[in-house]
Amino acid sequence: MPYEESPLYRIKSSKRARRLALRLDPIERIFHLTVPARCPMAKAYHFADSHEEWMLNTLNDLPEPCPFINGAIIPLCGKQTKIKIHLKPDAKITKIAQEKDSLIITTNKNDPSSRIERYLKNQAKNILKEKSEEKAVTISKKIENITVRDTKSRWGSCSSEKTLSYSWRLIFAPPEAMDYVVAHEVAHLKHLDHSRAFWSLCRQLSDNFIDGQYWMQNHGHELMKYGTK
Ligand SMILES: [Zn+2]
Repeated sequence: MPYEESPLYRIKSSKRARRLALRLDPIERIFHLTVPARCPMAKAYHFADSHEEWMLNTLNDLPEPCPFINGAIIPLCGKQTKIKIHLKPDAKITKIAQEKDSLIITTNKNDPSSRIERYLKNQAKNILKEKSEEKAVTISKKIENITVRDTKSRWGSCSSEKTLSYSWRLIFAPPEAMDYVVAHEVAHLKHLDHSRAFWSLCRQLSDNFIDGQYWMQNHGHELMKYGTK
C-alpha cells in the first residue's frame, strides 16, 4: 500500500455508491470517503488528495469541542449550566443531580463523561417524548414509538410507521429550537412530505416557528460540539 492511513478520512467501499464522495462526521471530526466498488483505489486517493485543503478548512471551521469535564458550561435546554464533578473515591455509584444552573456529579470515576452523556440522553428522551405527545394530541394523531439517538445528519425524523426519532443533542438547543424540531416531526404524522399543508401545520404546532427554524438552520451544527473529547 503506497498510502498511510489518513487522519483526515476513513475509506468506506460501497456497492451502491455511484461516485466518489466525502462526507463529514462532525462528532468524530473525520471524513468518510465513499468509494464505489469498481472505482480504482488510485483514483480514490487522488480524489481525496485534491480535496485535502478543503477537508482541513472544513475541520478548522468546526466549533471547538466542549467535553463533559469539571467546570464546563453546557446550554441545557438553552440555559447555561455548569458541570460540577465531585470526586468521591468511596462513592458506590455515580449520582447526577440538576440544581438551578449546575449539574452536580458525585462519582468515584476519574472520567464520568459517559455517565453524564447517558444521563443527558435520558433527559432528552423524556422532554422530547412529552413535547411530542402533547403536540400529537392536538391533531388527534398517535405516536407509535419515540427513539433518541446520536443522529449526524438529521435532528429528527418521522417514519410511515409513526415512529419519531430525535437527536439527543437537541437538549443543548434553546427551547424554541427544540420545539420547532418537535413540531416539524409531529406535523409529519399527518403529512409525510414538505408540502404547503405540512408547513402550515408545522407553523401552527410551533411555539415560535420563525426563531426556532432560524436557530436550527444557523446554529444547529453547534450542537455537535458537546461531549466531544
Ligand atoms: Zn421534514
